[in-house]
Amino acid sequence: PTQPYDPDNIFGRILRGEIPNETVYEDEHILAFKDINPQAPIHVLVIPKGEYVSWDDFSERASDAEIGHFVRKVGEIARDLGLVEPGYRLLANIGKHGHQEVPHLHVHIFGGGPLGPMLA
Ligand code: 5GP
Repeated sequence: PTQPYDPDNIFGRILRGEIPNETVYEDEHILAFKDINPQAPIHVLVIPKGEYVSWDDFSERASDAEIGHFVRKVGEIARDLGLVEPGYRLLANIGKHGHQEVPHLHVHIFGGGPLGPMLA
């Protein structure tokens, strides 16, 4: 990782229950919740409960089981939101050039309408 994990980041605080969230799915290992500033009719963030700064950090340090669970659940959450037939988009911003604002790994799920070629 390019930086150490900062437990006071906003998603760390959400995981500790210090900030409320609109939960879409939760289990022992992951939390999915609605983005506070949605960029599509459906905009959900999926995060691991483990302390990982980014996709880079997660793919380097997490176990195969954690990674497998995370990937499988992202797909399952999108399916449960009814997004598969109409289609949807996954996005992970990594680091400065990737415009990552919150330093706790999150995957964005966008859907609920046509998205256009890319999000800015
Ligand atoms: P990034 O640019 O890091 O990939 O995306 C961070 C996302 O987190 C943004 O889409 C932003 O709207 C969302 N976000 C930031 N703070 C909060 C918060 O306190 N609650 C929720 N639900 N989403 C947040």
